[in-house]
Amino acid sequence: MLNIVLFGPPGAGKGTQSERLIAEFSLVHLSTGDIFRLNMKNETDLGQLAKSYIQKGQLVPDEVTINMLKAEVQKNESARGFIFDGFPRTNAQAKALDNLMNGMGESISTMISLEVDEIELRNRLTERAKVSGRADDADPAVIQNRIDVYRKETAPVKDYYSSQEKCVMIDGMGTIDEITERIFAAVKNLK
Ligand code: ADP
Repeated sequence: MLNIVLFGPPGAGKGTQSERLIAEFSLVHLSTGDIFRLNMKNETDLGQLAKSYIQKGQLVPDEVTINMLKAEVQKNESARGFIFDGFPRTNAQAKALDNLMNGMGESISTMISLEVDEIELRNRLTERAKVSGRADDADPAVIQNRIDVYRKETAPVKDYYSSQEKCVMIDGMGTIDEITERIFAAVKNLK
């Protein structure tokens, strides 16, 4: 399996680049943010719970997120591989993902970290708010909280993968095509 963790702050372009990656490498895309939003739209219990955190720009608790992710992986055990988009966002999630992969006799192949400066992130999220209809993009205080949570809780996940020599940093500034090319080169370099 080719199992890619696509990592980066809110607004880094993970969703956009995931679409390119799944097309090129025939992978199953698991975006925890998308799954939460689908549950919110369908007003499930999980959706109601997730919404109470997402609307404040906080992380959904690890236990809830990990159980949801596990269920999605188990639904797709015959996949050629996965792109994990927006997961893991804490070290506890990273450990849980390793355990899940190991239990399947698999492992994470690489972690691609999209590096984008904070001014650009704020601009992209403010622009996305105009088309996404996402309440968490529309409020500057919520955007700031997401960036702060990223710095405190999520950025350390880079060290987790660095210690396994799996963290590849990619310049996430430039055109969408330029960034896709950089990511493809990094993934092809693995083989
Ligand atoms: P973005 O990368 O633009 O912040 P996402 O769509 O990945 O957006 O996630 C939206 C929100 O969903 C996050 O701000 C967070 O509240 C919640 N969320 C997504 N993934 C996780 C996760 N792995 N752990 C906890 N909360 C998550």
